[in-house]
Amino acid sequence: MKNIVEIEGLQKIYDMGEIRVHALRRVDLTIAEGEFTAIMGASGSGKSTLLNVLGCLDASTAGTYRLDGQQVNQNEEEELARHRRTKLGFVFQNFNLLNSSTSLENVELPMVYLGIPRRERHQRAMAALERVGLAERVGHMPWQLSGGQQQRVALARALVTRPRLLLADEPTGNLDSHTSEEVLGLLAELHRDDQLTVVLVTHDPDIAACTRRVVILHDGRIVYDKPGPNHGGPPIPHIRELAASLSAEQVPQADPAGQPTAQGGPAS
Ligand code: ADP
Ligand code: MG
Repeated sequence: MKNIVEIEGLQKIYDMGEIRVHALRRVDLTIAEGEFTAIMGASGSGKSTLLNVLGCLDASTAGTYRLDGQQVNQNEEEELARHRRTKLGFVFQNFNLLNSSTSLENVELPMVYLGIPRRERHQRAMAALERVGLAERVGHMPWQLSGGQQQRVALARALVTRPRLLLADEPTGNLDSHTSEEVLGLLAELHRDDQLTVVLVTHDPDIAACTRRVVILHDGRIVYDKPGPNHGGPPIPHIRELAASLSAEQVPQADPAGQPTAQGGPAS
């Protein structure tokens, strides 16, 4: 099976002048076509940084990234933008919809950048909204929709360009548990029926358990990479305990809670 993601020796250092934050420390990761992967880890462990590099939203400091068989030149902003438009779909915790545009307009937008003719844009956006169960809400504004519905619009927007890789950073972080299950169910369905390759960042072990592969980051390193418990893998270890045991072994100076030594970023 073809690899969609091949990452080797990926490092990301945020240079803050006085301090350098090692957000990713030599990460190697391969993701095959059609995989459904959860990325977990404590707040500040590097999950969003990894997802942003995968999503060509940010460049790494060192290391190589092949996306869908193509070397990504991470310092070429135009190339990154082209990958984002043509190969990648994103879903964020805060939905990131345009507030003064309807569901339909939000979903049509990425196709405008691809130069797809108006008529086809309309047809594809309608089909994508139908796919996520929002055929009746195409003319609604984001503020007229529930959080779960807004996230489904965001999902339709991510899918309408037929990406090779869907990236979701805490997509259920702002949703109640019932709505979270709905959104997750939709992702699982897209993975199963459309062979969509999905990488999902989540705090929630119940959500991670539904994926096929669970990767745990600790302090910028991958410390766990196993099949999900609903797919023949072991129970997901408790992140805090795992982090504490690793800190005891590897980083004697880390604090007892096992938090990364260079902390201070946004929660999650
Ligand atoms: P997570 O998503 O797992 O919570 P992040 O990838 O956001 O973790 O952050 C990893 C580390 O990098 C943290 O220590 C965070 O403070 C730091 N970091 C993230 N983004 C920036 C930034 N733009 N500037 C400086 N440091 C950052
Ligand atoms: Mg994050």
